[in-house]
Parts: sequence; C-alpha cells; structure tokens
Amino acid sequence: MERIYFDNAATTPLSPEVLTAMMPFLTENFGNPSSIYAEGRKSRAAIEGARKVVANSIGASLGEIFFTSCGTESNNMALKRAVLDLGVRHIISAATEHHCVLHTIEAIAREEQIRVTNVRLDAAGRPDLDHLEEILQSEGGKETLVSLMYVNNETGQMIDLARASAICKAHGALLHCDTVQALGFFPIDVQQTPLAFLSGSAHKFHGPKGVGFVYINSDYSIKPYLDGGGQERNMRAGTENLSGIVGLAAALDIAVTQMESRKAHIQNLRQHMVSGLREAFPDIRFLTDIEGASHYKILNVCFPLNAKTELLLMNLDITGISASGGSACSSGAEKGSHVLAAMLGEDDTTCRAVRFSFSYLNTLEEVDIVIEKLKKFV
Ligand code: PLP
Repeated sequence: MERIYFDNAATTPLSPEVLTAMMPFLTENFGNPSSIYAEGRKSRAAIEGARKVVANSIGASLGEIFFTSCGTESNNMALKRAVLDLGVRHIISAATEHHCVLHTIEAIAREEQIRVTNVRLDAAGRPDLDHLEEILQSEGGKETLVSLMYVNNETGQMIDLARASAICKAHGALLHCDTVQALGFFPIDVQQTPLAFLSGSAHKFHGPKGVGFVYINSDYSIKPYLDGGGQERNMRAGTENLSGIVGLAAALDIAVTQMESRKAHIQNLRQHMVSGLREAFPDIRFLTDIEGASHYKILNVCFPLNAKTELLLMNLDITGISASGGSACSSGAEKGSHVLAAMLGEDDTTCRAVRFSFSYLNTLEEVDIVIEKLKKFV
C-alpha cells in the first residue's frame, strides 16, 4: 500500500539533493572540524560554508549563527541565556507556543525570580499584538523578553512579525521568535525585522533530523549554553554534527531558492483540500484561518466529534494516510492539545481536530484520495 504523508509540520522527508550534499561528509570527509590537519580543515570549511548559507538566507552576519542539535535546543538556549546573561526578569509569551518554549519558560520561572505574562489570543487564536502593546505600554519593556512563534505548528496561524518587532523595539523589549515552522517557507530578514533571537530546525524543510541553529543578534552577548570544547566560537561545545550542518544548509538553500514555486504548489494543494472538504462536509469548520494570515502548508480541520470520528486518525492510518491529531479535550489515549485548548476552551468537546500538512512532494491526486477516505470515516 502506497502511503500518503500529510504530516509535514511534524517532519519532512529528506530531499534526495540534500542527501547527495551530505553523503561525502558521512563517508570520506570525516575529519573533526577542530583538527588542524587536512581532513579537519575540509570539515571546518564545510561548516563555515554552511554558516554562510544560513546567515545569507536571513540577512544575518556569520558571527550571529550558531549550530545546535535542534529547534528545541535553540529555543532553550535563547530563553535561558537571556535570563541568565541579559538581565531579563519578565517574559511575555502566549499559551499557544510550542512546548519547547512553554516548558522552558516554566523551568526558568521555577529557578529564577522572573515574571511570566501571556498575551491574549484573538478570535482566530493568534497572540493578540494589541494586547502585547498594552502590556508593554503599561509595564515598560525594560528587562523584558517577548517570545512569540512566527507560525503555530498546530493551526498554522501566523503573527505579524514585523509589527511584533516594531512594538518590542519601541518599548526596548527583546524579541525571541520561534521560526521553526516558517523558515524556508517565508522570507525572513533580520535587517528589516530586527529581533534578538530566532530558531530553526532542518527537519522541517527537508533537511536531516538532529540539527538546528540559533540566530543571536550581535548586539547581545550571552554565555555558552553547553560548556566543553570551544566549538561554535565557544558558545555551544561538542563536536559538530558535520553532515547534519551541511544538510541543513543545503536544504535551506534549496527551500529559499524554490520558495515561490513550492509555495504555489502547496497553496494549490491546500485550496484543493479546502474545496473538497467543503463540498463533502458542508458544515466543516477550519481551525486554520485560511483567508487570513496562516501558513499555506497547514490545514487544521475540526470534524464533529462522535463515535465515528473518535477513531478517525487511527482509521486514516490503517488506510495508509498519515496526519496528526489534537483535540481540546483529552479523549481516549490521545492527549489533548494545549494549543486547541487555549483556542477553543478546555471544555470544547465537539471538535475532532485533524491537522493535515503538505509538502512540495504531495499531489492533487493524494488530496482527492484523502477526501474519498474521509467520506467513509466521517
Ligand atoms: N518549534 C516549533 C514551532 C515546532 O513545530 C517544533 C517541532 O515540532 C519545534 C520548535 C522543535 O523543533 P525540533 O524538533 O527540532 O526540536
């Protein structure tokens, strides 16, 4: 059975071109980048070449990019070091952030004397930037870090990053943005949209798993996150994930170069799915703000919760379709989604939410097959 993979917000398959770029660094080019002889120098050159690609892709300078093991580590590093090294005493975030941000903030708050404020969500479930402005106006932005994601991984809702950046700048607050779902899909330019930190993760844009990066604005100086050797200019010790870093840069380069054509294709897939679902299920509700600012790769659909849809994800899986779930309530073995709980309210038990997320590798035919299958299960 050919499977249909509609869970590209969870992870993406490695592109063949990316694997090709990585292969030499998994085989003959194995030198430790810290070694001063030829093999090491070759590896060092590959890492610095990758850093250049990443820096160029977001308008940063080379010294502002640090490779890490994943988006989670990047977010941990930014949030924890901002409190420890930059005097941050107030973190403003939102209930819909990824757990790697929410749990990190909770962990910091347990150990350090900091205050945490969540901005309200607007009607579409986005962090309300008017509220962010109100908070900063009344409390000031001194010693404050604002941490908001660019694209929500469950709903696809996007914030107006330029506005968030302008608000933080106007009040002297630092801005950290989890751009893990956006990087490679939307132009990001830290010159035009200044921020203190942003994070990226290769496996979300057809790169390998286990490698990410953090951008740290050179205006801010933080201490090492991992202590040990002097890798990553003393900021993140540990022998570099050489092939991973090369793969991250190759995948990002391709994603940026092909951004418009991939976007057109994926947008078309999502629109086709929306039309097909509306036709098949006239009462369908979307949790993704399709007409508003949302990521074109994500479509979160709310099916009515009943005995049939209770097992929807399992039934889809059995028939060869991979998609993700998440409901406001904790039903069955599935843990409820904190994002949907924050959006819909804890007691919304009417919604069986399914997140479909597409990539440039998916096809219109796959969308048609999924809609036909859904007709049987809903
Ligand atoms: N932030 C967001 C918005 C994500 O969607 C994810 C992954 O699901 C992460 C952070 C964590 O990234 P990683 O899997 O590289 O740790």
